[in-house]
Parts: sequence; C-alpha cells; structure tokens
Amino acid sequence: MADETAIVETAPPEVGRDFIREIIQADLDSKRVSKVVTRFPPEPNGYLHIGHAKSICLNFGVAEEFGGRCHLRFDDTNPTKEEQEYIDAIKRDVHWLGFDWGEHLHHASDNFEQLFAWAEHLIRTGFAYVDDQSQEQMRASRGTLTEPGKNSQFRERPVEESLDLLRRMRAGEFPNGARVLRAKIDMASGNINLRDPVLYRILHASHPRTGMKWCIYPSYDYAHGQSDAIEGITHSICTLEFEDHRPLYDWFLEHLPVPARPRQYEFAKLMIKNTVLSKRVLVGLVREGHVKGWDDPRMPTLAGLRRRGVPAAAIRDFVRRTGVAKANSVVEVPMFEHSIRELLNKTALRRMAVLRPLKVVIENYPEGKGEELEVVNHPDDPAAGTRRIRFGREIYIEYEDFMENPPKKFFRLSPGTEVRLRYAYFITCKEVVKNAAGEVVELRCTYDPATRGGNAPDARKVKATMHWVAAVDAVNAEVRIINELFERAPDPDGDLGAALNSNSLEVLQGCMVEPALTSANTDAPVQFERQGYFYRDADSAPGKPVFNRTIGLRDTWAKVRTG
Ligand code: ATP
Ligand code: MG
Repeated sequence: MADETAIVETAPPEVGRDFIREIIQADLDSKRVSKVVTRFPPEPNGYLHIGHAKSICLNFGVAEEFGGRCHLRFDDTNPTKEEQEYIDAIKRDVHWLGFDWGEHLHHASDNFEQLFAWAEHLIRTGFAYVDDQSQEQMRASRGTLTEPGKNSQFRERPVEESLDLLRRMRAGEFPNGARVLRAKIDMASGNINLRDPVLYRILHASHPRTGMKWCIYPSYDYAHGQSDAIEGITHSICTLEFEDHRPLYDWFLEHLPVPARPRQYEFAKLMIKNTVLSKRVLVGLVREGHVKGWDDPRMPTLAGLRRRGVPAAAIRDFVRRTGVAKANSVVEVPMFEHSIRELLNKTALRRMAVLRPLKVVIENYPEGKGEELEVVNHPDDPAAGTRRIRFGREIYIEYEDFMENPPKKFFRLSPGTEVRLRYAYFITCKEVVKNAAGEVVELRCTYDPATRGGNAPDARKVKATMHWVAAVDAVNAEVRIINELFERAPDPDGDLGAALNSNSLEVLQGCMVEPALTSANTDAPVQFERQGYFYRDADSAPGKPVFNRTIGLRDTWAKVRTG
C-alpha cells in the first residue's frame, strides 16, 4: 500500500542559499578566505540530540558544498561533566549521520599548553590579572543589565604578582575556587560578557584526555575562539545565544598573537514543539532511570532515533527543510515525521504483522493443506522483488478488524460480511466464538477458492482489504509503540518524573509476524502493512524478535501546515 498521505513538499526558497551560505560565497568571491574551514564543537557531556544534527548538517554541509573541510572538535574544558563514553558516542553519531572529519579530530585540550602561554601573554601585556575574590564576591560586583559592575581590588595588582599566582595555580598550590584568572576589559561595559570574564578556574579533577596534568581549566569563551584560530577555522558557526559573546570572541583575537582570524556567525537553534532538547534534562532522564539509557527509542537523541528506526537521511532531510535562520522559531513534530514517512515510504519493504491477533479458522479450507503465495516486497518498486508467504486453515487477523455489531461505516469483518485478505482470498465470517467472559476469541469463516490472489473472477468487490499472518508461519514477537515522552514541559530543576507521560511506551506481547521479519538481513526499516514503519530492536533474541514502531502511517503535516 502506498503511503497515500505522502505529500511532496517543495523546499522553502531559502534552502541552499541561507545567510550563512551567502556570507561564505561572498568571502570566497572577495578572497577573504581561500578555503572554507568549519567545525562542529560538542562538549562531551552527553549524547547528541536532533538539535545538534542541525549544527552538524550545517557545518559539515557547507564545508562539503564549498569544497572545504569540517573539523570535529571536542570542547573538553569542563572535566567534571565530561566522559569518554560521550566522546565515543558523539563520534559514532556524527558518522552515522553521514559525515566524516577525516584527519581533523581535535580537542580544546590539545591546546591547553598554548592557551596557558597566551594567558601569560595577556597578563604581561596588561590585559589579564589573577583575582582572589570569592565566587560570591565576583557575582555581587558584576553588576546587572542596568548597573555597571565594580572593579576588583586585585585588578591593578602588579604583572609579576599575577604571573606568579597563575603559575602557582597551575602547580596545584591552591584549592578549587581560591582564585581565577580574569581578562581586564571593562567592568562598566554594557555587555556583561566583557566585564572582566574568567579565563581560568582552579579545578582539581581528572580529565578524560589530560588526566591529572592540569588543575586549572580554561573557560569556554577563552578556549573556543583560540581553538578556532589554531585550527584555522574560517567560519565559526554557533547558535544565537552566543551573539553577545561575539565581542569577547573578537577581543581575544585582537589581543593575542593568534595565527588566524576566524569570524563567528550565529544562527537560530532547532527547536521542536513538545520536544525537550535540553542536555540537562536528558542527562537527568538517564541518571534518574526514567528511560532505559541514552539510546532509549523515546529519547530525541541521535542514538535513540537510530534505535527507533529513524534513518539518518530523514534527519538530514528534515534539518534541511527547517532552513537556517537568524531568528528563533519552533517547528512542529509532524514536519519531522513527514520527512521520516516520505523516506520510509520509498525504502521500507512491506511485511505483514498482526499486533493484536484474533484467530480465524477457515472451515472450508482442507485440513492439513497449505500453500505458498508470492507477494511483492514493495508496491512501487519492482526491484525490491517478491517473497513467498504461507496460507493455511488457521490465520490471525487484527482484533480491531472485526466487530460483532458494527456501526454503519465499519467495512471490515463482521458476521456475514466478506473481506479480502491481502494477496490471498476473500473470506466471509460465519460464526463468532466467545469465551466464558463473553470475549471474542475466534472467528469461523469460509473462503472462496476462486479468489486466489485477492481478486474475484466475477469482479465482485469487497470494501476492505486486511492484513493477516498464517498460524503455520507466525513468529511470536514483541512490539513497542513509542509515544511522547513528556506529558508537559518539565522543570529542569524540579521533578522530571512528574512531567512524564505514563504511557510513553506501550509494549505489545504475542504479536504475530511473518517469518521474513526474522531472517538474517533484517537490519532495515520495514512497513507493517496498514500499521506503520517498524524497526528491529537490539533487544531481539533468536526466535523472539522485538520491534519498535518508528512511526505510524498517517501524515498530519499537510494539515498542520495549512492550519
Ligand atoms: P550545553 O553547552 O549546555 O551542554 P549544547 O546543546 O550547547 O549544550 P554543545 O555540545 O555545546 O551542547 O553543542 C555543540 C554544538 O551544537 C554547539 O555549537 C551548539 O550551538 C550546537 N547546538 C546545540 N543545540 C542545538 C540546537 N538545538 N540547534 C542547533 N544547534 C545546536
Ligand atoms: Mg554549548
């Protein structure tokens, strides 16, 4: 069945020529740069989520389009939150998304020695000082958006004294928080980022790469731009919240003997309605055990989406459609789902699976007889080939496809009606078998042998075509239906559990699926006919497959778009 709801959307006009690409084109035309060099700079303090995918696609995408290169740089300046597991996961996810940094794997920590030397340079040139104030004192003297800050009493301390203290900070003579190194810029600046920002803080902590070598660590602002300059980044693309940091970014480049002058550009983050992309919340969900891990299929992480069965190409397509803007906006979930469906409709092989089985006995089908039917793997793609499925006297249909007392518009099976079993025969319901509780447990039907393949020779029509699985063929499977993780927006500082949707995961046991779904080459998304797209979960065991529902069939994007 073709996904009848798939709509072809034309790309918004700005795609391919957003403001970032225009700037790059102009820089190449004017020869400000000869080769584009970008970077994706994750902090290894969690797994990547779909928001990061936007930054990855943009940075690697423009590098590719303009014949340049993109670096993967770990912004590893905060060892208390960073872990090797995250470093490995980030690399895996960037590769999975379809991008490659080649030889250009970098770490801010590669530059610790150089950053330290430049810190001394700033002290020597009168642009940095060691401040002994406590964190509280510093916070209190920083001022507000409307009031200037106050100079620290240590601001004018002699160069030699600051140099000596910085070296002793590095040597481990002082406890955490005892002192910091600050840039000497302007405590009255209208931009709070320029009010003598911290360059180094003392942190006695082991770092995933440098171990215990350092006990002072550079701030994000200090490390980031200088790492860009060292790596020869031409366009340092980041999200809007760094717009106010750009004057500081430029200040460092002006006051240091850096080898290059990168420029920072900001674009709007990807935000998706009802989807939480805050790393803090995601870390909390994992730590507090509200999900089974970072790759839980309910998570908006790349690892979770992959496990759920969302193809990398669908993520790339979605991100492309959202464009690159200078103002924040929120996109609707159905827009993402549309990209997923459009791709899976083209690529996913069709299979039959009954999620809530109801047994049907075909009374006039000879006992002991069985037959094979040849069926197509994809209705629109003959190259996808065919497979053989078995038919027999006992089959399973979907519980929902039967109603004993159907309302007027119910065209599926009910007592006395005839329906088509897809690829097989017309059947008519003759009798309903119930258990002691009055529940329907079995149907007795007859079939018309003349309708083999699903067509009647007298051209008589039926109103419904249903999927089914023969009892002889059926493999027992578990199916997981994935719903929204949150019922309402969580408070990152509050009880995450209270905001969760208690029905975020529906587990269906005893599903009956056709055997093709358990054969070796099953690491591809499939469509369960009439049900949606599904993907085999890593929890599958031999003879006991587990499937995640990636997404249902119904596309609501057209409705959302036109309001
Ligand atoms: P935090 O810094 O608070 O840990 P983060 O999401 O910014 O969280 P980073 O590892 O710093 O995490 O992000 C790496 C890159 O991805 C940054 O350049 C950041 O701007 C970008 N990024 C993060 N979230 C999004 C998003 N929702 N849309 C687009 N880019 C994003
Ligand atoms: Mg960040």
